[in-house]
Amino acid sequence: MAEIISDGRRVHVEAYEYYFASKTIPGAGLGFDCDKDGNIFLDRLQPAALANLEIGRAGKDYTDEGVRDMSYNYYQPAVIRCSCGRELPLSDCMTNSCECGLEYNGGGQLLAPRSQWGDEFTNPSDADLYGPDPEAIFPEDGIDMNRTFSGLGADGRPWHES
Ligand SMILES: [Zn+2]
Repeated sequence: MAEIISDGRRVHVEAYEYYFASKTIPGAGLGFDCDKDGNIFLDRLQPAALANLEIGRAGKDYTDEGVRDMSYNYYQPAVIRCSCGRELPLSDCMTNSCECGLEYNGGGQLLAPRSQWGDEFTNPSDADLYGPDPEAIFPEDGIDMNRTFSGLGADGRPWHES
């Protein structure tokens, strides 16, 4: 088990926007980053966004909807220290590859080198790719796909075997 630098954890990000909904286009509107009291971060707005804010505040084409809670959560994966010294986030539950070539599973356990992995991973057979051979499903002593059940006999008369 590699050294764990930080555990995986859920991160909560608090975010708000001040929103003006379009009166003519359903679902459209103008949103501006703000604090939870609705103070828009004017110093972060580009000139075009400032112009949009004026349009929104004018109230002709937009309805002032006030503050919207845009807070969200995300999962920050655990980070381990590889034996080479690099930090490696365990963002995949199966394999996480370090630049040095070592690989770890999602729990931080070192995986065996790929050369030791089974053939099904590195050199797949037809059966791995396309499923089992039909002969395996219909063995020779089972159903004979070439067997004829009806035809013309040696005397020219039709025959049928049920
Ligand atoms: Zn490494």
